[in-house]
Amino acid sequence: MSDTIFDKILRKEIPARVVYEDADVFAFHDISPQAPVHVLVIPKHKLVKFADIAQAPDHVVAGLFKGAAKVAELLGLSEHGYRVVSNCGKDGGQTVDYLHLHILGKRRLSWPPG
Ligand code: 5GP
Repeated sequence: MSDTIFDKILRKEIPARVVYEDADVFAFHDISPQAPVHVLVIPKHKLVKFADIAQAPDHVVAGLFKGAAKVAELLGLSEHGYRVVSNCGKDGGQTVDYLHLHILGKRRLSWPPG
């Protein structure tokens, strides 16, 4: 597993605008936001991509999804809604090899995505 920019952010070697942290997850603002709110949520137990969830311990998966829902609530997104996205692999458009959920909100998002 190669070291990524998100490993460095988690180790606080690179600064990020942190919005939430607990035992399971770490959440920070995306450097290139695609919506008025665009936050990334990563599991502290490293997984490379969404597909790896199939083999991950249940508590890691539960912690990631619960953490993401908490982050959305904290950011005031629950009332009007938001989108949770994980780009997986080359065809999915993944550019950082550390599983992350994008949380996008505070604007009406179109569907389908490009
Ligand atoms: P992916 O394309 O892998 O789904 O998403 C990677 C995301 O990480 C992109 O939205 C990109 O803007 C964000 N990103 C890349 N490098 C950095 C960084 O150094 N800091 C932060 N906060 N976000 C980053």
